[in-house]
Amino acid sequence: MSVIKHNIATIRSTIPYGVELVCVSKFHSADAIQQAYDAGERCFGESRAQELVQKVSALPSDIEWHFIGHLQRNKVKMVVPYVSLIHSIDSLELLREVERCAAAHNRIVRVLLQVHIAQEKQKFGFSANELRRLMETCSEADYAHVQVCGLMGMATFTDSEEQISAEFKTLRALFDELKAGVCARNEHFNILSMGMSDDYPLAIACGSTMVRVGSAIFGSRG
Ligand SMILES: *Cc1c(COP(=O)(O)O)cnc(C)c1O
Repeated sequence: MSVIKHNIATIRSTIPYGVELVCVSKFHSADAIQQAYDAGERCFGESRAQELVQKVSALPSDIEWHFIGHLQRNKVKMVVPYVSLIHSIDSLELLREVERCAAAHNRIVRVLLQVHIAQEKQKFGFSANELRRLMETCSEADYAHVQVCGLMGMATFTDSEEQISAEFKTLRALFDELKAGVCARNEHFNILSMGMSDDYPLAIACGSTMVRVGSAIFGSRG
């Protein structure tokens, strides 16, 4: 068995039913992705527009491509034709641009809103209050071509499990609050994307429904 297949089997054995696995394939070759595909995986995450587009044409057409990295507005039109979910909507301007491009392509794009839960300044995303305000004020008519399917967040890069766990729990609480409140009529609001190679078991314990795992599957990105 290849290392990739072995890693996937190990990870799959720890992920409970109902939690989706996104195989984060950024910086890894089409061949590595094909190995994961042959092991049964269909959902892959990329963080650069150019790389995503190149891989789409080189790999099987039933792959579900997720965009997980910071997305510049001028790259939205590159990814909109191919993505099945954008995890990283981190500004109103970006959401508007996705709506504009999706309308131009006459398609509906599924998105997650990224929440800034970490202590680090450099991580992108909305604060909890910005998100509450956004969800209250944005009208469905203005965003007819985007489907807000939930939230995404990244914990602080730290060894403190206590801190990571507190951040994940905060995000889960915000997700529950929105789902019961301002998003209650949105039947698509079901995804909470949190957890990476180092912290996905903790994220699942804190209520994640979708984990984004890269290096634990494909090895380090060098
Ligand atoms: C790279 C990346 C991941 C995967 O990270 P690993 O530590 O390799 O599992 C997950 N989410 C986002 C947003 C990323 O950029």
